[in-house]
This record gives sequence, C-alpha cells and structure tokens, in this order.
Amino acid sequence: MNPIAAARMSVVVALVVLALKYVAYRLTGSVSLYSDALESIVNVVAAVAVVISIRVAAQPPDLNHPFGHSKAEYFSAVLEGGLILFAAVEIMRAAWQRFLDPLALTDLNLGLGVALLATLLNGAMAGFLVWNGKKQRSPALIADGRHLWTDVVTTVGVLVGVGLAGLTGWWILDPLLAVFVAVNIVWVGLRLVRDSMGGLMDESLPAGTMETIQHVIAEHMDEAIEVHDLRSRQAGRHTFVEFHLVVPGSMSVATSHALCDQLEEALIRAVPGNVVTIHVEPEEKAHRTGRVMRIGASKSSEK
Ligand code: ZN
Ligand code: ZN
Repeated sequence: MNPIAAARMSVVVALVVLALKYVAYRLTGSVSLYSDALESIVNVVAAVAVVISIRVAAQPPDLNHPFGHSKAEYFSAVLEGGLILFAAVEIMRAAWQRFLDPLALTDLNLGLGVALLATLLNGAMAGFLVWNGKKQRSPALIADGRHLWTDVVTTVGVLVGVGLAGLTGWWILDPLLAVFVAVNIVWVGLRLVRDSMGGLMDESLPAGTMETIQHVIAEHMDEAIEVHDLRSRQAGRHTFVEFHLVVPGSMSVATSHALCDQLEEALIRAVPGNVVTIHVEPEEKAHRTGRVMRIGASKSSEK
C-alpha cells in the first residue's frame, strides 16, 4: 500500500480506537484507561501529521528544494515525540489527583472488553504500519507503527492491572498504572525525537550499510586507484552517498565517466533509494581530508 493511503487508514483507525478507549474510560472511571485514551488523542494528531508530512515528502525536487522534500517526514516524528511528552504530563496530573482521592471502578467487564477490542485493532494497525513502512522505506510510517505498538503493550499492561484491581479491590493500582503508562510514553517520545534528530543532523548510514557500500565500491572500482572522502546521509526514503574517485591521470574523460556510471549503478542496486555523487581526481591531484573513509591507496594522497 502506498504510504499516503496507509497513513490515511491509520488516521481512521486511530479515531475508532480513541472512541473505544474513551467509552472504556467512561464505563469504568479508571484513570489508567483515561491515560490510555489520552495517548490515543496523540495517536490521532500524529497520524494526521504523518499524512501531511508524507504528502510533502512525496513532492519531487524543485528549484527551491533541489534535494527533494523527504526530510519533511522527520518533522512529523519530532512533533509526535513532543506531543507524547505533553500527554505524559497530563496523565501524571490525573494520576496524582486519583492518588489523593482513590475511587472504586465500575462496569469493569464491559469496560475492559471494549478496551481489549481497541487494543486488538491498534495491534493489527501497528504491525501493518511497520511492515508497510519498511517495504516503502518511509521513516514516518515506521515511527508511527512502532509508537502504536508500544501503545498496545501499555494497554495490555493497563488491562491486566485494572482487572487485578477489580479482583483484589486495590484501587490504588489504577493511578499507579497510569504513572507507568506515562513513564513508558515519555521513553517512546524521547526515542522518537532522538531518531528523527539523527536524520535531521545528517547522521551517517548504519555501519552495516556502510560496509556493504565499501564492499560494492571495492568490487567495481576496476582501474581506479583509490576512493576517499566517502560520506553518506539519509533523508527519509532517500540515501545519499558521495566520494572522490582517484584514477590514473592519463585515463580519458569517457573512460572515467563510464567507471562512475558502473559504480553508481552497482551502489543503487545494493542500496535502494540511493543517490550517488562521485568526484573524479587524477592521481597527481588527489587530496583527501583524512577524516573520512578510504578504500585502496594512492601515494600522492598521503600528503
Ligand atoms: Zn553521467
Ligand atoms: Zn579527493
């Protein structure tokens, strides 16, 4: 499914889940189910933000944004992380009030049944979002799916806890669980922000991918002498790889261009969504910054 369709579907599902969780909260009066419902409001807003950011990200490069718009997806992930932290504060507030004034819960069977239904729906959506997000290389969808999944885990915890509170009459479990939900979503929020910041800050591709790239270059560099200043970064579904290619000074422009095309093709095959830029240098003029990765060795680049 294309990312926009998947994101739209997740908005609808988030609304249904929110409605179900709110019903569960109203039936029982449980503050931990309330906190769970609050997290669902975040999910709805986040799902809408994902739709918008994916639409922006899907726009082709233009004069103002010649590298494309794919980084827009990171904004929605950062926003989502911020919203999650906000929800955590509200949950803590509600839990504190319930600590001061514990309350017996009502209609537990029906309420827990409704919440369980909401969770099953959420779990199915989360699994689909991560699976589809990976297939479509959409960080916004993957982040949304992972976030939904932690939501499922906390809801299961809440359901078990509230059920236990009902069986034992330890109503204090309810606000305790709400705090547990809050702490968990703070963790999720921080990690989401951290991961998206990596993309915004042009973090290098993961070590494993870099190894693959070095391997592919070494295999296809033919008569080239050295590759240095190898750099990479990621922007949404696109990865960017660039490096200097040192060739014998006598090599013709046509030959070195053919060599570049061969390297580009191999790299794009190895890493889908890759954009490769190669700077060709004759052996006599080779220079490197020295800080970045290097493959092969030329004497003149030792300076
Ligand atoms: Zn060309
Ligand atoms: Zn160089």
